[in-house]
Amino acid sequence: MNTANIVGNDRIPAIEGRELQVLDPATDELVATVPDSGPEETRRAIDAAASAFEQWRLVPPSERAEVLLTFADALKTDRERLASILTREQGKPLAESRAEIDYAASFLPVAAEAGVEILEERVDIPGKDVRVLQRPVGVTAAITPWNFPIAMLAKKTAPAMAAGCVQVIKPAEQTPLSGIAFVELGLEAGIPPGVLNVVTGTPGPIGDALLADSRVRKISFTGSTEVGRHLMRGGAENLLRLSLELGGHAPMIVFEDADLDRAIEVAMKAKFRNAGQTCISPNRFLVHHRLHDAFVERLADAASNLVSGRGDRDGVDLGPLIDDVAVAKVFDHIDDALARGAEIASGGGRRNPPGLTDRFPEPTVLLNTGPGMRCWHEETFGPVCPVRSFTDDEEAIELANRSDHGLAGYAVTDDPVRIERIARDLQAGIIGVNDGAPAVASVPFGGIRHSGFGREGGRWGVLEHLETITVSRIP
Ligand code: NAP
Repeated sequence: MNTANIVGNDRIPAIEGRELQVLDPATDELVATVPDSGPEETRRAIDAAASAFEQWRLVPPSERAEVLLTFADALKTDRERLASILTREQGKPLAESRAEIDYAASFLPVAAEAGVEILEERVDIPGKDVRVLQRPVGVTAAITPWNFPIAMLAKKTAPAMAAGCVQVIKPAEQTPLSGIAFVELGLEAGIPPGVLNVVTGTPGPIGDALLADSRVRKISFTGSTEVGRHLMRGGAENLLRLSLELGGHAPMIVFEDADLDRAIEVAMKAKFRNAGQTCISPNRFLVHHRLHDAFVERLADAASNLVSGRGDRDGVDLGPLIDDVAVAKVFDHIDDALARGAEIASGGGRRNPPGLTDRFPEPTVLLNTGPGMRCWHEETFGPVCPVRSFTDDEEAIELANRSDHGLAGYAVTDDPVRIERIARDLQAGIIGVNDGAPAVASVPFGGIRHSGFGREGGRWGVLEHLETITVSRIP
């Protein structure tokens, strides 16, 4: 595939000729090289976007919606090719890559519909004709992580385009190919040149160029809390609008009335997707003491049965972690927990599938974990399940909320009083009750506290890309 930057109608290499390697995390084989771009390539991409904005903002929302729907169809038609690119550079099993592409495609019709339905309003003021309009914010930027490189991009791109905005995209260094393939396909499907542009490279120079250019009016970022803070500081000068989808540390509470089959189903679904490298994946399992032993036994058993290997092989449940740093963090967290009194119910070692890298930690269930341990306050981002028992609901909710993050939270219960309590008190932007997959394109997705602000999905995602303008006329 052509891996050059996408700038307007042009494909451009890095001006200074530098390149970055994209490696398969399962084998360390070289998959491709991409431009290691800097401020000048970024400026050209902003130029292309700013120029495209002058036409795109005037295209009626219904026509923009048509383009988005054609793009969604193209994604579905090209799913196999995109899934194999995604698995190759990211490592996840092909079935998960296919699901990611379907999930990504589902944002396009949702945004298209919202773009058409968000209408001008009138406010009734005697003696005046007051209109409240929505205008696209203008040139935006999308900075995306490596864990869901197509889905995280579609979540940003679809609402931006539906609102009439244009975008400069900086994909993650480890997974740039999926973003390039996604945009390439969009342009083939009829998105006008310049509406979406891609610049690959190391983050500092590109990020700083985006922050410094006053034509960029919004950055939509998914990634770590630390980089989110950096963008917030850097965006202060231009009073940049930001949507920050940052790290999480989701609790999962298994209440006393929980059905155990359901609890295991929710835990397995929410925890092991993408080998645990998922921002909404549970990091702390709080289990009522009466269910604790049975829950641990069944979770340990189910986790041990997951198959590790290359994502493109049949029957594989867990691909590799993205790199050696990610693997080291998993083992640091396990070692720290053990040193502070935790015990291993299952896993704890490496799988080492023959011929592959050593980035396949065993799915691990840890007992007797608690707030003093690193895994209780830092995202492990791997297949580790720290478990703790509790005796009453009060204690469970207090422990669950003992985190600065607030992205997702889970509860397993059918008790209406508990469900209301969770909805009211759990510090999380997305709450799954008996639901291990609460993120769908038509509902708002985003966090509170150190997990950031802003929402993606549904009309909420489109509203993030609009400015509200008042026109007050005296007739
Ligand atoms: P990261 O280091 O923050 O990187 C995310 C993106 O930001 C990458 O494209 C990265 O580029 C770029 N970046 C890094 N430093 C930058 C800078 N100074 N200026 C501009 N851009 C910069 O996060 P990650 O480790 O890749 O991703 C994992 C994190 O993302 C986890 O914390 C996870 O919870 C979070 N996440 C959150 C959500 C959500 O919706 N809330 C979803 C998925 C992931 P390079 O790749 O080139 O470094």
